[in-house]
Amino acid sequence: MEDCIFCKIANKEIPSNLVYEDENTVAFNDLNPQAPTHILVIPKKHYASLNELDNEKVMSALLTAVKNVTRKAGIKEYRTVINTGESAGQTVFHLHIHILAGRPFKWPPG
Ligand code: AMP
Ligand code: ZN
Repeated sequence: MEDCIFCKIANKEIPSNLVYEDENTVAFNDLNPQAPTHILVIPKKHYASLNELDNEKVMSALLTAVKNVTRKAGIKEYRTVINTGESAGQTVFHLHIHILAGRPFKWPPG
């Protein structure tokens, strides 16, 4: 999708610190990390949010990517977050899963 920063990262039109790639997903370090490890996993295809995701193959690919990324990084304990919609904290409208690790996390989240 035009003017979508994460589509540009997935298409390698702008640089990012890629840590993982497969057929349907890429993962890269968050620009503004909220924990010692903060990685974003995204589908290569544009979905504005989880609400628009309608492809079971991509759903499965995203969780597989989370498992591959964490295994590759040697992370066994981590927080995964999907913010859906502005009130939930979504600021980039290309579906992404946050992987956060390296510090304790509170529950419930703020
Ligand atoms: P969210 O608030 O859930 O939509 O998360 C968006 C995340 O994308 C934030 O944690 C930002 O720091 C991160 N972000 C925005 N632009 C970039 C970028 N160009 N490269 C890496 N991370 C980004
Ligand atoms: Zn996009």
